[in-house]
Amino acid sequence: MEKSSFLANLECGWCRREYEPDRLWNLCPDCGKPLLARYDLRAVARAVSPRDLPGREPSLWRYRELLPLRSDRFKLSLGEGYTPLMRAYRLEKEIGHGPLFIKDEGLNPTGSFKARGLSLAVSRALELGIKSLSIPSAGNAACALSAYAAAAGLEAHVYLPADVPRPFITECRVLGAQVHLIDGLITDCARAAREDLEKYGRFDVSTLKEPYRLEGKKTMGYELAEQMDWALPEVIVYPTGGGTGLVGMWKAFEELEKLGWIGSKRPRLVTVQAEGCAPMVKAFHEGKEFAEPWSEASTIADGLRVPAAVGDFLILRALRESRGTAVAVSDREILEATYLLGRTTGIWPAPEGGATLAALRRLQQEEWIKDGQSVVLFNTGNGARYSRLWD
Ligand SMILES: *Cc1c(COP(=O)(O)O)cnc(C)c1O
Repeated sequence: MEKSSFLANLECGWCRREYEPDRLWNLCPDCGKPLLARYDLRAVARAVSPRDLPGREPSLWRYRELLPLRSDRFKLSLGEGYTPLMRAYRLEKEIGHGPLFIKDEGLNPTGSFKARGLSLAVSRALELGIKSLSIPSAGNAACALSAYAAAAGLEAHVYLPADVPRPFITECRVLGAQVHLIDGLITDCARAAREDLEKYGRFDVSTLKEPYRLEGKKTMGYELAEQMDWALPEVIVYPTGGGTGLVGMWKAFEELEKLGWIGSKRPRLVTVQAEGCAPMVKAFHEGKEFAEPWSEASTIADGLRVPAAVGDFLILRALRESRGTAVAVSDREILEATYLLGRTTGIWPAPEGGATLAALRRLQQEEWIKDGQSVVLFNTGNGARYSRLWD
């Protein structure tokens, strides 16, 4: 039998207890923290090398051996991942910092990098026999779940804040999902979803509450390495909500080093949040291991309106291990940077993408970062769905 996945077990990110990987799990049954997929990396290193990659499909599935799906029969792909990494020459001139790259995640199916995580999570749920899926979301994750559930023929229930911009709702409906609008924030959506989960026996694909969205999002780390010819940038600026992408990339770099594909040099990771919802920034600067939930969270960057994250300790650990930092920017700075990014690159960014540029400018002023240090900004989504912003 051809072995297409080298998934070995699931390990709790907190208590390190191990779990059997071919059953469905949410959080660690023992301590309630996220489970992380572990692979037989020695076997992966024997099976594949960077030289094998150039001929492979231009999606995240090019890293097939490092993904958890057992059988390709259940693979759901809409062209997610392998997004371009663009050098932003005009923006470099404008702000006086280079080299500067944009990883444009807005080109993913349903317009955001949420497609990466949900491609894997839904494929794996399909493989393990799930029929109905549920997600609380600020918008983008709901669209991505709707798309992959439609591709799989599974039922999707999406729980969105009632004030989410209309295009997100429309897209979920067109893709066949059941839309539940909830008064409140994403944490209130999570509560409503949880009540229904128990009642109807649905599987919860909230971020980091099942192990495979992380596996989809970690591929951003593989791509950066491959696209930069196996030399990572000096700084990565990442708009952090639940932190899946940041934690995922940190995990990806560790895996690549164990495979011998990169050395031990790592980028410094920067978390950006909005001043109106900055639980990670606060916890980072206070030296805490966990973040306290943020009250009255508010920002124009919907994906950053996440008052509490189950993976908080994983985010804080990655920031510290990388000698990175955390920055909070105002909605006004976010909006200005979003327009600046747009008019100098040709990319219509999501405000979360704009936030990364606002953070970079802050780090320039504070001289935390110096001209000549290579920086990658993540534009995590396409701006078009954020209808309220542009009116
Ligand atoms: C979800 C989302 C984020 C936050 O992503 P995490 O990996 O959960 O921190 C950032 N930007 C956009 C556009 C999002 O949809």
